[in-house]
Amino acid sequence: MKITAVDAFYLSMPEVLDIGDGSQDMLLIRVRAGDHTGWGECETSPLTSIASLVCPMSHSACQPVLASVLRQNLNGPADIGRIAGEVRARSLDLLQADHTLSGIEIALWDLLGKAVDEPVHALLGCRTAAPKTPYASALFADTPQQTLDKARHLRTQGFRAVKFGWGPYGRSTVAADADQVHAAREGLGADVVLLVDAGTVWGEDVEAAALRLPSLEQAGVLWLEEPFVSGALRAYQALARRSGSVRLAAGEGAHNAQLAEHLIDYGGIGFVQIDTGRIGGIGDAFRVAGYARERGVRFVNHTFTSHLALSASLQPFAGSGADWLCEYPVEAKTLATTLTSNRITIDGNGQITAPRQPGLGMRLDLDAVRPYLLDIEVAVKGRTLYRTPDLVP
Ligand SMILES: [Mg+2]
Repeated sequence: MKITAVDAFYLSMPEVLDIGDGSQDMLLIRVRAGDHTGWGECETSPLTSIASLVCPMSHSACQPVLASVLRQNLNGPADIGRIAGEVRARSLDLLQADHTLSGIEIALWDLLGKAVDEPVHALLGCRTAAPKTPYASALFADTPQQTLDKARHLRTQGFRAVKFGWGPYGRSTVAADADQVHAAREGLGADVVLLVDAGTVWGEDVEAAALRLPSLEQAGVLWLEEPFVSGALRAYQALARRSGSVRLAAGEGAHNAQLAEHLIDYGGIGFVQIDTGRIGGIGDAFRVAGYARERGVRFVNHTFTSHLALSASLQPFAGSGADWLCEYPVEAKTLATTLTSNRITIDGNGQITAPRQPGLGMRLDLDAVRPYLLDIEVAVKGRTLYRTPDLVP
């Protein structure tokens, strides 16, 4: 098969708020080859990624992503790896290229799976997908009482693990943060796994993070996520030495496999969290999952948006029973929740499994999301480089 089209669609909620919710807009990618179509979602700033897709060449390591994908042969998984390598080499200096590549790479796997009638994880060598325990991923509320109510609600929904993050956490006093964490624990009860996401709030300030450790330990928190920015490896390592029963989790910011592997090698983390929509796609996430497993670090997906993204994020570690937790979006905006007409549902044991259908196994409901499509045109010297394509199957 030859890749004949790569199209990008910028969709957005009517209002985008200044909150830690990445489901408010979306860059959806459609790839065509042979008689087949594949879909993927980038974890990205959509307009920035469109620019990286079509920008004029600045020099040989600064070329548009599209140029490395169109008219390529796609006959097996090795072709996807080869194409990704060419994008990385020829768009080396475009900082958003990894994010753009991720959605394209995911769409290529979806397309290839449909073409050969296999789920993506089977193409990665996994015949039977292992069930995962989904953790509900929620934002801390403005007050401890509201967080407690939210925690109770998630417990009644049957979640065996819940993560609270962002919101006011880390932005006020140590005591206020402790109140939030204890409220979450009270609402969940003693037997639900509790995770806390600091959303990089302390930059690389180890002491600020360490002051929160006692309340996290008292509340039996399994992991403290992203206390620091992704590259602050010395800070991660210093906190990991002091964090006792609370393990550190990070990796969602990694936009290539090497960055995630550095966190594993030098950051002292216990959980590596990978967003397939940012790291370069399913192939790079699969590489990190294997690397982590060999070093006793648990792999977890990072997914806060649609079930198309959720399916893509489950594929790289579908075969690993030891990697038992998975992030499950529960507060995504309508744009993300209506993108697919089918969903990855929680079974009677409170677990989810990667879809068994070909490709990513998700059916898109384009009529439902078409109202969110933005009309974009990019022109240079009167020549149109990009115009929003028709959003059709
Ligand atoms: Mg996070």
